[in-house]
Amino acid sequence: MKNHKPIHFLILKVIGFALLAVGVFILVNGLRTQVPDMGEDNWFDTSRDKSFMIFGGIACCFISLPFLLLGFRPEIAKMNVKSAKYIQQANKEDLTDIVNDTADIASDAITKTTRSIKKGLADTMYCKHCGAEIDRDSKFCSVCGQAQ
Ligand SMILES: [Zn+2]
Repeated sequence: MKNHKPIHFLILKVIGFALLAVGVFILVNGLRTQVPDMGEDNWFDTSRDKSFMIFGGIACCFISLPFLLLGFRPEIAKMNVKSAKYIQQANKEDLTDIVNDTADIASDAITKTTRSIKKGLADTMYCKHCGAEIDRDSKFCSVCGQAQ
């Protein structure tokens, strides 16, 4: 896939950054005009001729946000796709682990259960001579051949 960036995203980015820069510039200058007057004076004294710059600057910064968001939409979309893929991959690995662990536990449990059922059901005894497990009704040991 080619990394083509449509021109209108670039324009939106430029407008967004320009608004942000202008907003920060106005805000900083508005704050600078207020600083010497701070003291015990009211910070929000609207009679001061340059206090509007603070609000104007903040407003300008806020107005720049949608432009920046729209301008960076391809990058944001790409990031979303990447994170979605990562989450999918991580989930897949987790699921595989869970399934494998569960399968292991299940097969282990089945083996143990089967073994104990077999032991419980089978009518077995142990050879008097060699100790091998043999059928209870057998007359001779199937391992050592001795009579029981
Ligand atoms: Zn035997």
